[in-house]
Amino acid sequence: MSKKTPQAIRGTQDIFGADAEAFAFVVETFERVRRLYRFRRVEMPVFEKTEVFARSLGETTDVVSKEMYSFEDRGGESLTLRPEFTAGIARAFLTNGWQQYAPLKVATHGPLFRYERPQKGRYRQFHQIDAEVIGAGEPQADVELLAMADQLLKELGIHDVTLHLNTLGDAASREAWRTALIEYFRAVKDQLSEESQERLEKNPLRILDSKDPRDKPFLADAPKIDAFLSEEASAFFAAVTSGLDAAGVKWVRAESLVRGLDYYRHTAFEFIPDEGSASAAALGSQSTVLGGGRYDGLMESLGGAPTPAVGWAAGIERLAMLVGALEEERLDVAIVTNDDVSVRNAQKLGAALRTLGISVELVTTGSVRKRRDKAVKHDPGCIVTLGVDLIDRGFLLTTSGDEQLYHRLDGLIPELLAR
Ligand code: ATP
Ligand code: MG
Repeated sequence: MSKKTPQAIRGTQDIFGADAEAFAFVVETFERVRRLYRFRRVEMPVFEKTEVFARSLGETTDVVSKEMYSFEDRGGESLTLRPEFTAGIARAFLTNGWQQYAPLKVATHGPLFRYERPQKGRYRQFHQIDAEVIGAGEPQADVELLAMADQLLKELGIHDVTLHLNTLGDAASREAWRTALIEYFRAVKDQLSEESQERLEKNPLRILDSKDPRDKPFLADAPKIDAFLSEEASAFFAAVTSGLDAAGVKWVRAESLVRGLDYYRHTAFEFIPDEGSASAAALGSQSTVLGGGRYDGLMESLGGAPTPAVGWAAGIERLAMLVGALEEERLDVAIVTNDDVSVRNAQKLGAALRTLGISVELVTTGSVRKRRDKAVKHDPGCIVTLGVDLIDRGFLLTTSGDEQLYHRLDGLIPELLAR
């Protein structure tokens, strides 16, 4: 048998230290903010039947046609590791009868899998935070969801990304726009990238999303959705934008913004780093941090009754890159023992302090002389030394700066040890 250590799978990451702290900070901040907006937590399976994604995302999308991790299980069923959250949440909404809770605001986070070319900010296993409002057709739902995204970014300390907003209209507007786009791009088909030529008949909206230099010259003059919006769709968009203004969410209009998946209607949006900003420098070309929109058609594609819904997802790794490396929180107290008899007291004291919300490291092993140095390396607010030979109180407190904590402990410790 080979003794070589197996390598991690390409496009996966092991996250540790300051990067892991930034990752956790993103999740913790999301958890706090989603509570402010009263989004309820849901947990979803990491895999689903392949059709859950194939039917809801659309067969011609990049995700379904090229990026899914699909496999047959031992029973011969085709399963797929989730490439996104929305389809699974929609499946759960239908199979669990969550209609009874509508309008339902839910939030979740966890790992997702896409077979993509790994690069900075793009992985094969990555993580998202995700928020959805299901069973709400009014523009207020879009506004609330976007206000939550905006507040989250601010609370993460990210101030140089802006909401880019578009409408894709209702089904009729979108269809008319699609037809016009096909006509427009067909005239210049030969000059488009191979990928866009392929998209032309199946998914022409996606051409607008192209980053290929061969497509770029044709994008600016392509037909705009505004020319095809029904009165109702225009009014909907106007209500969203005036709501955002009222909620203090800054936005810019992005007329050629489309989303990669088929199920979007009306509102579509992405938060993108401002040109020349620190966030743009940190993320490079992989620049969308948070994206989403309204997906009024999705439930029907899964066999459910028409159910309007709107949601967004953001890559945790990308957000963590913008947050930057975070220091681990400072240790409050290191407890050092000078002899084996005191270990029990150290354990007792450690448990009591942690119950009070004070963080503790025990240093009870190795050469007694070196234990204090070991404790200093943890950079604690206070060092407590325990030993039978230590004066009448049986412990010794030293401090490296945190006076308040020092005085608090000085009063507490005899009492805790006496219990
Ligand atoms: P992109 O245009 O970057 O491929 P997308 O449109 O495929 O993004 P969504 O499906 O909308 O992305 O996912 C929402 C967010 O999830 C993205 O804005 C990004 O932050 C993150 N994300 C998507 N794919 C990856 C990936 N492979 N690795 C890391 N993060 C990702
Ligand atoms: Mg993608």
